Amino acid sequence: SRAQMYTKENRTNVTFDDIAGAAEAKSEVREIVEFLKNPGKFQRIGGRIPRGVLLNGPPGCGKTLLAKAIAGEAEVPFFSISGSDFVEMFVGVGASRVRDLFKQARDNSPCIIFLDEIDAVGRRRGSGMGGGHDEREQTLNAILVEMDGFGTDEGIIVVAATNRPDVLDPALLRPGRFDREVTIDLPDKDDRRAILEVHLRRVRTDDNVDAEVLARSTPSYSGAELAAIINEAAIMAVLAKRDAITMDDLEEARDKVRYGRQKESRKIA
Ligand code: ATP
Repeated sequence: SRAQMYTKENRTNVTFDDIAGAAEAKSEVREIVEFLKNPGKFQRIGGRIPRGVLLNGPPGCGKTLLAKAIAGEAEVPFFSISGSDFVEMFVGVGASRVRDLFKQARDNSPCIIFLDEIDAVGRRRGSGMGGGHDEREQTLNAILVEMDGFGTDEGIIVVAATNRPDVLDPALLRPGRFDREVTIDLPDKDDRRAILEVHLRRVRTDDNVDAEVLARSTPSYSGAELAAIINEAAIMAVLAKRDAITMDDLEEARDKVRYGRQKESRKIA
């Protein structure tokens, strides 16, 4: 089976069901899933499938989750690297890592390559910061060369994530590269509720827990922060030797996640 062809760390069990809300983003990547399931079919019909997809949105809103879900839904391997990994590297190391990554992908296609924090290497070149950017530029050049080097028939989709699309080198956004953009914004109230419910399903809760009330009192919280609320609340419940999370735990965790401290009333108590 396909599962035996790649190592465990390259597989992902994430599916669209793990991503609450984000309906538009999910529907925008559905055709990519279909393509990865059967690249040949698309080839025969002649549909134009992107090589690169840029996921854009604030931190913690599910960009990594969505990239993994594309691979999980299509049941293809997931190869990833983060732009920030390259920052401390010696000149030439980043570029050779990029070449290795694309080689691995070609050997295991169809598959997903995920470039997290692409802005760390993909900033506009020659932006006048002086020397010292050789490494970054070589890495970026390697990404561009590799992306131009595979055909759309190879079944490789490169997904990149950023929260700063405005600083990206225009060369990355040219046709045939990251010419498709999918945005995942902060969740609205209904999406916050859905995200809370996904994470609440994984823990034991008291009857008084109300996801709707919590969703209303968490404007501008990211998905990652909402997930953290439930984690924090679970820890509080365990420390208090209770066997279920209460609404009080969740409200205290909500404030702790945002403000990094406990409610005054609790500290005194
Ligand atoms: P960053 O830009 O910081 O890397 P990101 O946008 O890639 O963030 P993820 O790493 O995908 O965000 O999300 C972090 C965690 O937040 C996820 O592992 C998940 O637990 C939770 N999360 C975020 N968005 C959602 C969502 N829509 N549904 C369910 N969980 C979510």
